[in-house]
Amino acid sequence: MRRALAALVLVLWAAAPASGGPLVVVTTSTDLRALVEAIGGDQVRAESLAAPAQDPHAIDLKPGQIARLKTADLLVRIGLDHEPWLTRALRTAGDPRLVPGSPHVLDTSRNIALLQTETPRLRESAAPHVHGYGNPHYWLDPENARPMTAEILESIVRLAPGARATLEANRQRFLGRLDSSLNGWLRTMAPHRGTRVVVVHDSWPYFARRFGLVVVATVEATPGVPPAPSVLASLPQRMREAGVALLIAEPYSNESVVRQIASRSGARAVTLATSVGADPEAADYLALFDVNIRRLTAALGAR
Ligand SMILES: [Zn+2]
Repeated sequence: MRRALAALVLVLWAAAPASGGPLVVVTTSTDLRALVEAIGGDQVRAESLAAPAQDPHAIDLKPGQIARLKTADLLVRIGLDHEPWLTRALRTAGDPRLVPGSPHVLDTSRNIALLQTETPRLRESAAPHVHGYGNPHYWLDPENARPMTAEILESIVRLAPGARATLEANRQRFLGRLDSSLNGWLRTMAPHRGTRVVVVHDSWPYFARRFGLVVVATVEATPGVPPAPSVLASLPQRMREAGVALLIAEPYSNESVVRQIASRSGARAVTLATSVGADPEAADYLALFDVNIRRLTAALGAR
């Protein structure tokens, strides 16, 4: 009995964060940070490498941020080819704990039913590209917070086993709020189901599927590559013919491109928040959807 207890203590000691304080979690996005905070509560101290209104595929990390990676107990990432910059940063950091499969790294894409997995990966092309393994913007379907938070919980508990009960209670509370918010969002969006939209970057397939929008075209023909002049010339006319009501832009979209397409197509441009914090009111994961549903219904109502 005493030996079993000693072994247990040893296991707990090995799993606990070295500092004895909250677990230090570094995430690649503010959305992941928000989910980690919702589940981890005061058991974690989380920070995001990317700022909220930046293009998430193209982040320039500062040397201080790369150094911070090495102090992380846990790194949480979107995965797929969403963060090509992280691969470079991890190579620079050279921390042997931060490798795929390690208990110190969580890729939240593992249990997500991905969309667009048939997209051919453009290995032969010299052009930059993302979305080669399926669409990585899956956090924009609030239902995906369910598998994501399940993975986050298990990853934190693996490093801090004593925290399981607290984290499970946190998650149940979070999912309860998510469910009631989602019912409200779906009700609000119900009259707009089937609305045809064009998006600048292909950030919205999960969001569109959940809330009944139909994405008929993307301004970027190849994700992450600015549109060719021929696309800019022909798209507005095609949008008119297809009865497209809305052009959805990201906070980091090229404003003059957005203005040009909107004015020539007659569609209304709306910028949605792609990540927590991209709008001051989008202060946490649920508020991100509150803000976006409000902006969408305002834009659709003003047609
Ligand atoms: Zn993307």
